[in-house]
Amino acid sequence: MGFDYHKTDVNVRYYFTDGKWSDMEVTSDEYIKMHMSASCLHYGIELFEGLKAFRGVDGKVRLFRVEDNARRLRSSAERLCLPLPTVEMVVNACVEVVRRNEAYIPPYGTGASLYLRPVMFGTTAGLGVKPAKDALLIVYCSPVGAYFKQGIKPILVAIDREQDRAAPRGTGDVKVGGNYAASLLSGEKGHKMGYSNIMYLDAAEHKYIEECGACNFFGIKDGKYITPKSSSVLPSITNMSLRQLARDMGLEVEDRKIPVEELASFEECGGCGTAAVISPIGTIYDMQTEKTYSYSDKVGKISLELYTRLQDIQYGRAEDKYNWCTIVL
Ligand SMILES: *Cc1c(COP(=O)(O)O)cnc(C)c1O
Repeated sequence: MGFDYHKTDVNVRYYFTDGKWSDMEVTSDEYIKMHMSASCLHYGIELFEGLKAFRGVDGKVRLFRVEDNARRLRSSAERLCLPLPTVEMVVNACVEVVRRNEAYIPPYGTGASLYLRPVMFGTTAGLGVKPAKDALLIVYCSPVGAYFKQGIKPILVAIDREQDRAAPRGTGDVKVGGNYAASLLSGEKGHKMGYSNIMYLDAAEHKYIEECGACNFFGIKDGKYITPKSSSVLPSITNMSLRQLARDMGLEVEDRKIPVEELASFEECGGCGTAAVISPIGTIYDMQTEKTYSYSDKVGKISLELYTRLQDIQYGRAEDKYNWCTIVL
């Protein structure tokens, strides 16, 4: 089982019409009926979220930092002038979809989990560019396999300045589909050349590291966990969690601009996000300068400890001292 859609029993929905939200609807319908002139189709008024539920060592089911995803969904909605659901509405939808699809939660010990995908978009029919008056918020889920089937393995990454992902003060800091559409062409170019991810630099100067594919970037050196500070980087909840765990491990945490040349000085580096937690980076190739930055071909000691500590909390093997998990079953 990889990262693909598998049908489950139900999804849950809220409709925004006539200035108010509907009650939660639970449906087994995988399809939506929408006007061909709906604003999401023409003007990209669409956002999404991604989070996971884990079957723990104790048999309980934990949703990881669901309230943070709900808050981020609201900031994306605000940026796209969509109506704002409450944090409670989003959390309730996530809890409901997990409870009603319990049969699809992979068992403990497989490394697999239940991936939740909240998605929201403007559905108002019309031709002019204006904010949507109507919206649909759906939360569905799908079981997904362990990201690394044969243990954590460092990935190959390429820097490409020919296409940018997001502009300063654009939409890079919110989770909207348009950012992904804009990254496809460079991503495909990278894949054809054998790289699993493109590392994006800041769009204004192409001097500083921004994101690694659809992951945040972090580097480790001299007892420090260093991650890019930029208005066009998506605030990753995994990265927020790793920063806290890094502090717990006695590392200093720095949020700051990271010049490309600094890649040469990191002892370890990687991408982080819900899908993999951490993807250690083995090699970074700069397509324009033809420089190569090489790291170990095995996951570094600190990256592995961060990864283990986070998964221990998600699977209920370690104390959840920051209350990141919501037990739903
Ligand atoms: C979703 C996403 C991430 C990772 O965020 P998490 O909350 O850790 O899953 C990082 N970068 C981009 C561009 C994203 O869309």
